[in-house]
Amino acid sequence: MAEAGVALRELEARPVTDLAGVGEGIARSLHGVGVTSVLDLISYYPRRYLDRTREATLGSLKVGEEGMVLVRVEKASTRRTRRGRTLVEVRVTDPDETESLNLVFFNQPWRQEQLSEGREAVLFGKVDQYRGRLQMTNPLVDLVGDRTGRIVAVYPQSEAARLHSWEVDRLVAEALRRVMKIRGFADPVPVDVRNRYNLVGRSEAYHGIHRPSSMGEVAEARRRLVFDELLRIQLELVERKHAMECGSAGVAHDISGAMVGQFVERLGFDLTDAQRRVIAELLDDMARPAPMHRLLQGDVGSGKTVVAVAVLLTAVQGGHQGAFMAPTEVLADQHHLGVAELLNGMTVPDPSTLLGSRPLLVALLTSRTTAGERRRIVDGLAEGTVDILIGTHALIQEGVEFASLGAVVIDEQHRFGVEQRAALREKNRDGTVPDLLVMTATPIPRTAAMTVYGDLDVSVLDELPPGRIPVASSWESDESPVWEAVREEVQAGRQAYVVCPLIEESEALEVRSAEDVFADLAGGELAGLRLGLLHGRVGRAEKEETMRLFRSGAIDVLVATTVIEVGVDVANATVMVVLDAARFGIAQLHQLRGRVGRSDHPGRCFLVGGAPTAEAEERLRAIVRTTDGFELAEVDLDLRGEGTVMGERQKGRNDLRLASLRRDREWVEAAREVALVLVGDAGGMMDYPDLADEVRLFLGEAEADYLMKS
Ligand code: ADP
Ligand code: MG
Repeated sequence: MAEAGVALRELEARPVTDLAGVGEGIARSLHGVGVTSVLDLISYYPRRYLDRTREATLGSLKVGEEGMVLVRVEKASTRRTRRGRTLVEVRVTDPDETESLNLVFFNQPWRQEQLSEGREAVLFGKVDQYRGRLQMTNPLVDLVGDRTGRIVAVYPQSEAARLHSWEVDRLVAEALRRVMKIRGFADPVPVDVRNRYNLVGRSEAYHGIHRPSSMGEVAEARRRLVFDELLRIQLELVERKHAMECGSAGVAHDISGAMVGQFVERLGFDLTDAQRRVIAELLDDMARPAPMHRLLQGDVGSGKTVVAVAVLLTAVQGGHQGAFMAPTEVLADQHHLGVAELLNGMTVPDPSTLLGSRPLLVALLTSRTTAGERRRIVDGLAEGTVDILIGTHALIQEGVEFASLGAVVIDEQHRFGVEQRAALREKNRDGTVPDLLVMTATPIPRTAAMTVYGDLDVSVLDELPPGRIPVASSWESDESPVWEAVREEVQAGRQAYVVCPLIEESEALEVRSAEDVFADLAGGELAGLRLGLLHGRVGRAEKEETMRLFRSGAIDVLVATTVIEVGVDVANATVMVVLDAARFGIAQLHQLRGRVGRSDHPGRCFLVGGAPTAEAEERLRAIVRTTDGFELAEVDLDLRGEGTVMGERQKGRNDLRLASLRRDREWVEAAREVALVLVGDAGGMMDYPDLADEVRLFLGEAEADYLMKS
């Protein structure tokens, strides 16, 4: 019976100090690794397992190779070396004492006490031979106590917190024993769901992950706990999505107006099929009374801006306003220039004027907008005379209020947090929620998108405008052919970017290095060409001027830091040189490369410099191999793991502890499916109060706040 079991919330309410044998010392140690409640404790999962039936015995260790063995300490002694270092020497044997091994530890005097006679420990290290005997120097040591079972769980331990695996093991065992003795774990996941996905019950899962009797049990337990983690996230997201759709009043836009059509007519090109399809999806959303909440995934250069403008215009033609938020000044400027030009000469209906219409007004608001200008814009927004507002974070500041904000587009969503999304939704005095479209700069894998943006509907722009020739990319250790290629392109009337080494630790250093690169090139390889310099410390006026000169072709080569990473759009630029490319991530390199190849002139991208690690090498090879952003996104996830995409989410208790967006892709999809069914069409999880409560329990506070706000 589900009600009879112990709920996770009850364990959360129990401090670990309620367990037998947890004194102040251990409590402090546990606190040091983030464990205060019994729930924390049972969620403190083993780092690995030692299968005693299969683990290497001392006899099978090979000299020169790394190995893992379970041993018993025979004796330990300490002496000083001639150079004054402490040297702890430990002699260990197989548990059945047939073979032995020497361990030496330099400058770790506590090892003498840690490895006292008779203790059992798991060692991991490289095996050497010293004076004819096997030896490990400074191996990793996990104390496992005198656990007997066949499988020994090894917990993450912390020297700093003075916490040892066997202590955790003992406490977890005690916690599980007490839960089982009372009622066992409650299992809030409906039986039919468990059966469909072949999942073990929760009691079995916690037992299997901590005290398995076979590695098969560990695998079963892991599947279940992974599912639980992902299900909680999906329930929260689906629920949030429902709340937004049902709980707030949006604007049912009239999509029959003529402005979007006029705009499309005026473009110098035909929309791609993908653009047409996505615009139709968006307008369909916008026509509904529930607020749109949608993510647009599209590769670099797929033409997201045109789609964004169609959304903004749909709002404007019905008498509302649109806001377009970009992550950087350069990009906001560029969008402002581009959009104002695209919409130049268009009019909006205005019955208060003689002609019944007035020119459409696009304004730019950033942190650098002067006070006077800002005041005029803010007034215009409140009166409804500013139709489209483009800008940076300045858009979501206090005091910026709209007469009737109908649609919001956020470009390069990964640079903004959930809170900022929420802030733009609150910009209408009457509480109506504008339609929202967020756009990614670079694609992220499907399952990752489902996890990070699971409260959004997703549209995909999976087609590049016709005639695009994929940028030819190469990885160069020698610079001179690169500069030769740059000179040739400039000769042919094209332009180039040179991106300077990324120095994340210090903007000052990065600026210095950009200045150095600029001076070197101007006086050397690119002497005689017209160079421009752009970095984070260049003032606004100068930045604008430099970009203007580059756009107009008066600058041949733009030497820059990553301020040009996203969105910059100068079709005549055909060469991208990235110096010290190994310092950049895949998404960044893909973005940078996306700055060229934006017209029918073939583009080239040079990645310059060595690769210090195997991972860096794989990154660079991937960029050279493919220009498909969706494929690169998968590679990135494989190489770097979830931290990169989870970003802001990796805070609360809702962290992915066992689940991996890489390995557990199919479970993400399963969890999504189940969440959609459980939350149901009517909205809410009324029929599953225990699950709902658990989701609440695992929600971080920030997220709970967010939910309240929306
Ligand atoms: P991104 O999706 O990277 O933001 P942009 O919106 O900046 O891409 O578009 C890239 C370039 O392609 C721009 O110069 C834009 O004018 C152009 N473009 C967009 N759609 C089309 C199309 N259907 N046909 C030709 N060119 C297009
Ligand atoms: Mg863009």
